[in-house]
Amino acid sequence: MSGGHVLVVPGDGIGPEVVAVARRVLDWCVAKDLVGLTFEEAAVGGAAIETIGRPIADETVARAKASDAVLFGSVGGPGWDEGPPGTRAGDGLFRLRRELGLFANLRPIRVSPALEHHTSLKPETVRGVDFVIVRELTGGIYFGEPRGVEPAEGGERGFNTMTYTSAEVRRVANSAFALARKRGGWLHSVDKSNVLEVSGVWRRAVTALHADTHADTPLHHILVDNCCLQLIRDPSQFDVLVMSNMFGDILSDGAGALTGSLGMLPSASLGEGTRGLYEPIHGTAPDIAGQGIANPCGMILSAAMMLEHSFDRKDLADRIVAAVDDVLLAGTFTADLAGSGPAVSTDAFGDAVIAALERG
Ligand code: NAD
Repeated sequence: MSGGHVLVVPGDGIGPEVVAVARRVLDWCVAKDLVGLTFEEAAVGGAAIETIGRPIADETVARAKASDAVLFGSVGGPGWDEGPPGTRAGDGLFRLRRELGLFANLRPIRVSPALEHHTSLKPETVRGVDFVIVRELTGGIYFGEPRGVEPAEGGERGFNTMTYTSAEVRRVANSAFALARKRGGWLHSVDKSNVLEVSGVWRRAVTALHADTHADTPLHHILVDNCCLQLIRDPSQFDVLVMSNMFGDILSDGAGALTGSLGMLPSASLGEGTRGLYEPIHGTAPDIAGQGIANPCGMILSAAMMLEHSFDRKDLADRIVAAVDDVLLAGTFTADLAGSGPAVSTDAFGDAVIAALERG
């Protein structure tokens, strides 16, 4: 039986609430002998700041490196997001991503048939939407040097640097091409090469990689501003998109609106091998934390991505996705999707997913 060891990081706010539901789904799979997984838990983010005064312990990084996958809730909240770089809750997550060498962030945007009427777009526009944004995760303007703020006439001047080498682009584009091929689809490479030199490097590196090793996968280049428009006008035209760190950060949140709720969206952060970190797109939602009403779908679907990418169990991942769809199609919604209708709790949604798995 396939399997391995998973480091579970519940995190802060609604993190532990949604992680508990994902764990129940995985425990069900283990109990049914469908996969062999062992688990251990670690504190990162605010939970670590409260106990050790730092957002992550070296020991936790070592345990993550010794694991086959990291299942991550979300971190942060009032009192933990301020302070010098390296001391904030989110820095624990950044360190994990960096030390695990996770450079490709996969964000699937898939509209469940049950949620076509839950978005602000027309149902016929979002029907059947199923694409993946691959965001470069360790480079670009978020990490480029020089950066800073300096005094300037009349106030201050802030500056950041957007930088990519061809090698950094090839690495993430290679993952995106591989994914597009696996899906039998095509790739859009997103840049701003009409204005930015760094985007020129990006486009040339993707074009060369395509010619060298991925000529069988259709490639389209698209400017980021047009991509933004097309994601809202006609999202079905996309299959896999690859883009820089900042473009991916912004476009994936925007594209997330297609699915009806931020609580629906999973993600996987991957490196060269099969080890990955799996987390929902959403944050710790301090406004609803502790009420037991968070939508656990993004977290459950992140666990499904873990089964597919780290444990080569696409069959089991598909089964979980189908169970979540079944529950939603039956009209079982948490408060973020229920509108004026009845809403179930986070735990009750988990019960319904387990029941659907039992039936399925
Ligand atoms: P957020 O995603 O936590 O919340 C935005 C809005 O969406 C809130 O109204 C929230 O209630 C709602 N929401 C989010 N997830 C939901 C779910 N599963 N079910 C129902 N509703 C949900 O974003 P924010 O308010 O900008 O950030 C809150 C905290 O989370 C901050 O401390 C931030 O730093 C942190 N954060 C962490 C991560 C991460 O760990 N990867 C990502 C984003 C934000």
